[in-house]
Amino acid sequence: MNERFDDSVKEQIRMRADIASVVGRYVNLKGSGQTLKGLCPFHKEKTPSFHINADRGFYYCYGCNKGGDVFSFLQEIEKVDFPEALRMLADETGVALEPPRRQQNTPSLITFKNTSKTELIEIHAIAAQFYYNLVKNTPDAVQYFKSRGLKAETVKEFCLGYAPSGWSALIDYMQSKNIGADKLAECGLVIKKESGGLYDRFRNRVMFPLYNQSGRIIAFAGRGLNKETQPKYLNSPETALYQKSGLLYGIHKSRQSIRDQGLLLIVEGYMDHLTLYQAGIRNVAATSGTAFTSEHASLIQRLAPKVTLVFDGDRAGLAAAQKAVFVLAPFNLQVSVLVLPGEDDPDSFVKREGAEIFLEMIKSAKNSTVFLIDKLISEQGDSPQAKRNIIEELAPYVQSIKDPIVRDDFLIKLASKLRVDSRHVFNRFSNENSCSRNAQPINIQQLNLNIKEKLGKLEESFLRILLTSPELISLAKRYVSPQTLTDSLSANIYSIIVETFDASGNLDGLSGALPDNSEIKRIISMLTVKPALKENINAELEQKIILLRRKSLMAELRQLREKLDAESGEAEKLQLLQRHRECTAQLKELDE
Ligand SMILES: [Zn+2]
Repeated sequence: MNERFDDSVKEQIRMRADIASVVGRYVNLKGSGQTLKGLCPFHKEKTPSFHINADRGFYYCYGCNKGGDVFSFLQEIEKVDFPEALRMLADETGVALEPPRRQQNTPSLITFKNTSKTELIEIHAIAAQFYYNLVKNTPDAVQYFKSRGLKAETVKEFCLGYAPSGWSALIDYMQSKNIGADKLAECGLVIKKESGGLYDRFRNRVMFPLYNQSGRIIAFAGRGLNKETQPKYLNSPETALYQKSGLLYGIHKSRQSIRDQGLLLIVEGYMDHLTLYQAGIRNVAATSGTAFTSEHASLIQRLAPKVTLVFDGDRAGLAAAQKAVFVLAPFNLQVSVLVLPGEDDPDSFVKREGAEIFLEMIKSAKNSTVFLIDKLISEQGDSPQAKRNIIEELAPYVQSIKDPIVRDDFLIKLASKLRVDSRHVFNRFSNENSCSRNAQPINIQQLNLNIKEKLGKLEESFLRILLTSPELISLAKRYVSPQTLTDSLSANIYSIIVETFDASGNLDGLSGALPDNSEIKRIISMLTVKPALKENINAELEQKIILLRRKSLMAELRQLREKLDAESGEAEKLQLLQRHRECTAQLKELDE
């Protein structure tokens, strides 16, 4: 799909979109006024290096060097293309987007592969609506949702649906909307037969749309209506939109509540999530049919400092909880585990006992350390051999705890619970600690170096001053031209700053003046998220101007000397000497 959006619409959206509130949905931002910071959503970290300049509309991470404006942020975090990011923001800012011009008469069943994510998202939305509309005419589906205690408004809010039992109900419907089966195949909604034909993937199933973080449908899970339908749950395959390992079901609805409470409850199933949600417990998300992964963990880390795993009380639930605790070990999260009594899952428990008692149970959730050790002791007993086994089983967990204080604390608790001398436990892990620690950060340091090399310290502070106090640009212009800057990168950035300022008298439109996803945009983001100190900023600028001019003259003198050495013509030599004298004089002036 070729989409061209009017630049002025783009600019309107950019001006209206508040980068702090958009980013705030993914990152817990701290700080006040124009600069905010938080834990980077793009790389794993424990101290915040992700910064925002809300006034200028830029973000930048000093850890992984990702940076840009609100559009590039959405593109990066939601893995969408520019038009989709634009559309997401248009929805929010209330700026009307012309509907993208679609070629109406494109015959279906030709284009493959090149469908944009935006279009794939549209197709999912249409499919979800199709499935949803079918519920009311399907007594079995209505009966199913009723039997699970779901109210009509919950079915509507999550757009739960029904996929009919024919082989081509969806294909036929989409055909009537001019959407070819090949595109449905890209969405994973149809399956290709060996013989070449296509048929609907989801048949006679109740449908749970799966949403991305911003509430777009990117996949489906279908639950068989008949007991004999296999598999019981069928998910969309992975597509350009959908990677199942990172998805938390319901997160688009729970973000605010998670942030308010500083706590996320993780459940295993869609029904668990929907029942809790319907009961008014909103800070909840489900791992949606996959094991808990480190993608889940890193997403959680961005949303809340605390997480409680609410898993079934049966053997499988306990094993899943243990695995999840292992996965969460390297993350800077306070993890607790609530094991429900008997055969309960969160769905059945809340239905029977009510939300209040459930919330009381949440308060009594076990710290993950205690959970792990108790679980293993209750399974294996406390013979010396069992103790040895337990320590070995916990080894991968201990090794992945990065914080030495947390690790030591765990080992002390472990020794005490196992009633063994803590020295034995510490000895078991003493050698492994040292090597695992220097492994990761190196990469990030190198990345940092690369960008520092590109922009000199002097140029960096000069440009940062201008970005902080645009009213000083006129002063700078008098003494510094882009040619004064000896490297082309800072000369380019300087030109853009000056041009933007000349055009409007301020730098409000700066972000729009920069090419999308360009290196320059990234570097300007870096400069703006950490403004210069306002105190003595005039004197600072004057000093930088002198230093820049000095640097430029020195560079020119060096060049002149090289040219003089190589030059044989007398007249040319004289000219070069003349310029050499001028430069020397100017340099002397500067030094006085
Ligand atoms: Zn980062």
